[in-house]
Amino acid sequence: MILMSGADVAASLESRLKDEVDALRRRDCHPTLAVLLVGDNPASQSYVRAKLKAAERLGIRARHLELPKSVRQEELVARVHELNADRQVHGILCQLPLPAHLNPDEAVQQIAPLKDVDGLTAASMGLLALGAPRFVPCTPAGILELLRFYRLPVAGKTAVVIGRSNIVGRPISILLSQRDWNATVMLCHSKSQHLAEWTRRADLLVAAMGTPEFVTGDMVREGAVIVDVGINRVADPSRPKGYRLCGDVNYGQVAPKCLAITPVPGGVGPMTVTMLMDNTVKAARLQQGLAT
Ligand code: NAP
Repeated sequence: MILMSGADVAASLESRLKDEVDALRRRDCHPTLAVLLVGDNPASQSYVRAKLKAAERLGIRARHLELPKSVRQEELVARVHELNADRQVHGILCQLPLPAHLNPDEAVQQIAPLKDVDGLTAASMGLLALGAPRFVPCTPAGILELLRFYRLPVAGKTAVVIGRSNIVGRPISILLSQRDWNATVMLCHSKSQHLAEWTRRADLLVAAMGTPEFVTGDMVREGAVIVDVGINRVADPSRPKGYRLCGDVNYGQVAPKCLAITPVPGGVGPMTVTMLMDNTVKAARLQQGLAT
């Protein structure tokens, strides 16, 4: 069984990225990422910390903008517009989810297309759907890097994706179906009937639903490749923090059956962070006229 270590693959990608950042800095271009965080959601704070640390490791400048939980939609959009206009800022990320009174789609769609390092604007999604992506959303991009690194078979195989969010499930299902990857893709969601019948047919199963350990051993076939995107906090009084992290896959039951699997933590998560850095470097290169 192959354990797809996002931590290892991310480290190897980071060494290439650092060279690219250094090359840009020699041209007086300092790749800069702005991260907007609204409120005090502990999971979001921890994701933002990981992103800021990665930027620091690579020499990417990071601007961390914290807005109060009570911020109004117009104020949030105004901050996005300011960052759009700031020539020193190459990439803008609005950390999701936002507090319930805010409209995340409206805020995200205001991000300038050339600064959309999370790949969530209509421009980025449209290019992706057309097979000519500019910024691939970071988690799907990370999944593809893992599959590439471990040379796992995808072309001609049956891929089943659970979850149809714009940030994970939908883009990965589109990407796997395109000519670079050539999988036959089934996209499942909460209204899908007979889910286990589909998952048992999967040569490649991507679980991105946000339900702890939902995918059990009887739902996967022998020799499948399993990508567990879920990051769930489950109460565990025996742990110092009072919770443990687990994925959407029951690792203990599924790992012995499969060809390859991503652990949680240490699988898809670190790749997501690294692909954000990759998109930020790409944004800087695009804005310098060094990439198309
Ligand atoms: P989301 O926006 O809540 O979407 C969840 C999707 O799963 C929805 O499409 C939903 O269907 C579907 N779903 C929920 N319960 C289901 C069920 N019982 N059967 C079939 N489908 C079901 O979540 P997300 O943002 O995509 O995130 C999914 C998970 O990945 C979460 O645990 C999140 O923390 C994690 N995540 C991890 C990373 C990383 O870097 N590793 C990045 C992003 C997200 P409907 O559309 O019908 O509601």
